[in-house]
Amino acid sequence: MNPGITALPATRNHPAPPFDAEQLRHDFPILSQTVHGKPLAYLDNAATTQKPQAVLDAITCYYSEQNSNVHRGVHWLSEKATQVYEQSRETIRRFLNAPSAAEIVFVRGTTEGINLVAQTFGRTRIGKGDEIVISAMEHHSNIVPWQMLCEEREARLRVIPMNDRGELEFEEYLKLLSDRTKLVSIVHLSNALGTINPVKEMIRAARAHGAIVLIDGAQAAAHLPVDVQDLDCDFYAFSGHKLFSPTGIGALYGKSRWLEELPPWQGGGDMILSVSFAKTTYNKPPFKFEAGTPNIEGAIGLGAGIEYLNALPQAEVFAYEEDLLQYATRALESIPGIRLVGTAREKASVLSFVMEGVHPHDIGTILDQEGVAIRTGHHCAQPVMERFGIPATARASLALYNNRTDIDALIRGLDQVKRMFG
Ligand code: PMP
Repeated sequence: MNPGITALPATRNHPAPPFDAEQLRHDFPILSQTVHGKPLAYLDNAATTQKPQAVLDAITCYYSEQNSNVHRGVHWLSEKATQVYEQSRETIRRFLNAPSAAEIVFVRGTTEGINLVAQTFGRTRIGKGDEIVISAMEHHSNIVPWQMLCEEREARLRVIPMNDRGELEFEEYLKLLSDRTKLVSIVHLSNALGTINPVKEMIRAARAHGAIVLIDGAQAAAHLPVDVQDLDCDFYAFSGHKLFSPTGIGALYGKSRWLEELPPWQGGGDMILSVSFAKTTYNKPPFKFEAGTPNIEGAIGLGAGIEYLNALPQAEVFAYEEDLLQYATRALESIPGIRLVGTAREKASVLSFVMEGVHPHDIGTILDQEGVAIRTGHHCAQPVMERFGIPATARASLALYNNRTDIDALIRGLDQVKRMFG
């Protein structure tokens, strides 16, 4: 029996138990490790999250009881694997509140989801003189595919600026929109700053100019409720590994209108209806965009990861994370010489900071000796670093299994850094 796949989501008839962060930590085997003899304080969740036992079990169950290729075989195992694989697609549909499972395309992750849109919508709908709008706080994966496309199609990339708190300047955004704007691609929750962007309002404004909108949900999926119908976005991309699920798998939601109309981007098995040397016809969405044997274990693991989250009281989890972010923010602000980078009024999960006179890499290395895992560098957002005039930051990023003990370990470690650097 696979607990990840069969776990009941919380419903009126099956209310979720109250959220207990301490209890929940036991679901994540890796968290009980010690590192350099110290309890692990894992604060690098914006890079990747840890996986609950339910996800590990789902993958083991797949390989020990269900392993087979999907969509092809008539035998029992293939039907079983296909059923569990497609069940995960349905789980993702519910998670995003998409109208149809045919609107959920399995991809390798956010990066591939964005590239899929650039290669299909971009190459067929964007031409000379058209404009694509992104923001100053995008991850490289939401910059480079558009730069490549603009070069190829002779289109122009426009960038929404941000203020010193790391908030997008909404008035400037409105000024950038015009009838030349064909596509807006915006991050929902910034990995480098923690800023939550007002994507619903941004989508509405883009619509008024007939532009389509892609939302980069890589960080948001684990920290904010996502409802693609309420947002009314055209595309929404996220990665499983930032959502307590395996690497190498993610999903791209695309409105059925687009998935029907757009051409495939990779050719191969599964994405076709028939092939002959005279003419090949394509499969219907989402399969049209899923050439080749997919990452079956990843998709099943992602379904299990989302079912695991569904069984938790979402509002309580998000309130807990918000409280922890406040606690950590106050603690960091109380250390002389530390400056937070990214102080948006709407913020989640991420604490990027610099310490006077100490390179972020030294901070990360010393913290590691204390069992505290953080990320240092530009976080694949070099334009953000440039905007703030710094080469790098140290970044602690939270998830639902973190607690005040983790934050206290971070603060003790930073005291140590201060002592060492005098
Ligand atoms: N966008 C954001 C905001 C991210 O944080 C990341 C991952 N750091 C990505 C896109 C790319 O995600 P992936 O590497 O999983 O494709």
